[in-house]
Amino acid sequence: MEDQTKTQIGAERFFQPEIEKIAADDLAKLQLERLKQTVANCYENIPFYRQSMDAVGISPADITSLDDVRNLPFTTKQDMRDAYPFGLFAIDVHDNVQRLHASSGTTGNATVCGYTQRDIDNWGDCFARGIAQVGGGSESILQVAYGYGLFTGGLGAHEGGIRSGATILPMSSGNTKRQVQMMKDFGVDILACTPSYALLIADTAIEMGYNPATDFKVSGAILGAEPWSENMRQEIEAKLGVVAVDIYGLSEVMGPGVSCECRYHDGLHVAEDHFIIEILDPDTLKPLPDGEWGEVVFTTLTKECTPLLRYRTRDISRIIPGTCQCGRTLRRMDRITGRTDDMLIIRGVNVFPSQIQQVISSFDEVTSYYQIVLTREGQLDHVLLKVETVPEFDFDEIRKIEALQQRIVAELKSNLQVSVEVKVVEPKSIERSEGKAKRVHDLRAI
Ligand SMILES: [Zn+2]
Repeated sequence: MEDQTKTQIGAERFFQPEIEKIAADDLAKLQLERLKQTVANCYENIPFYRQSMDAVGISPADITSLDDVRNLPFTTKQDMRDAYPFGLFAIDVHDNVQRLHASSGTTGNATVCGYTQRDIDNWGDCFARGIAQVGGGSESILQVAYGYGLFTGGLGAHEGGIRSGATILPMSSGNTKRQVQMMKDFGVDILACTPSYALLIADTAIEMGYNPATDFKVSGAILGAEPWSENMRQEIEAKLGVVAVDIYGLSEVMGPGVSCECRYHDGLHVAEDHFIIEILDPDTLKPLPDGEWGEVVFTTLTKECTPLLRYRTRDISRIIPGTCQCGRTLRRMDRITGRTDDMLIIRGVNVFPSQIQQVISSFDEVTSYYQIVLTREGQLDHVLLKVETVPEFDFDEIRKIEALQQRIVAELKSNLQVSVEVKVVEPKSIERSEGKAKRVHDLRAI
């Protein structure tokens, strides 16, 4: 007998057309109402915000229009670290807080967020929009190959599966051959993981003698937690036989689902019913017009436990002007080109690893796997870029390798104005990743 409850839950929740196609006026009204509640919650329950709002002379009663968000104080990652562990919670951790997530804290205290049941449900709804974007829903089998744990990827995707009524296969990351086998044997149709892991799963399946594009039922992939190029998307889509969309989030704000691409692949629709997005000039912190690149800043609108006012993400993106063909009215942000933290300053030139990736992705002879090694020779930075050839490339011909290296060097120089040493290496010689790929090895300080 068909499980009616499951089907109904999925049908009711995963599309959310009333929200995703909301009229601009109605959205503004909803955002303002929720902003007022959020600011009041912050002011009344979080001493940090009461102090920082008092310091700039603003009180909850001063929020009368959406533009007033610009008068609110910022929150930085350092503020969250300083508040470790529960200083930015609006609720006592022993009360209605269902779950805790935390960043890795490799460079200081971890940033900690708490989630009430409603926070978790809202998060699941946001991720479920991504599942719907790739054709998934209550009849889907969702393979979650993001890591489970304090990292928000695994459980974020998991909650999305719950809210869309899907059957969840909670693989976590790792054990790649087993991932492939179960994907095939269980008839998985939707995969959620990092893009680099999706590629590794695809390559492993091919090595195991399968053609996942034709032999497997998998048809959709929701991939995020690291920047990836258009070429990498095409490679994943072709190898796995899927529609792949980019999902964005960060543990401080919520986790994956803050924004997600639709099938038109022209930007990520921001869940504006849950977040106000601003794009600011990272130096002056003044708002930038739509279309211009700057730092992404989010104010949460529905978070109960860890609401954030104007959180500076350090991610660089822009608002894509105009409306999307899909009919969703929620505005779109562009793919993240980099983080202000990740920006490499190479001999005085600002370069994001994603820009290097973008350049090499125009070469058919190389794969999406690459590695950047930064060293210092005397006073000068030296950049070694290792790229891997596709298996069809004739690696025995030294002259062909040298010619390819020279072409990549020239292309990087003309696009990014940086001199890079390029080393073309044999297929499969660059380390594979089961989670977020470590592309940059900065040895300059060592
Ligand atoms: Zn769209």
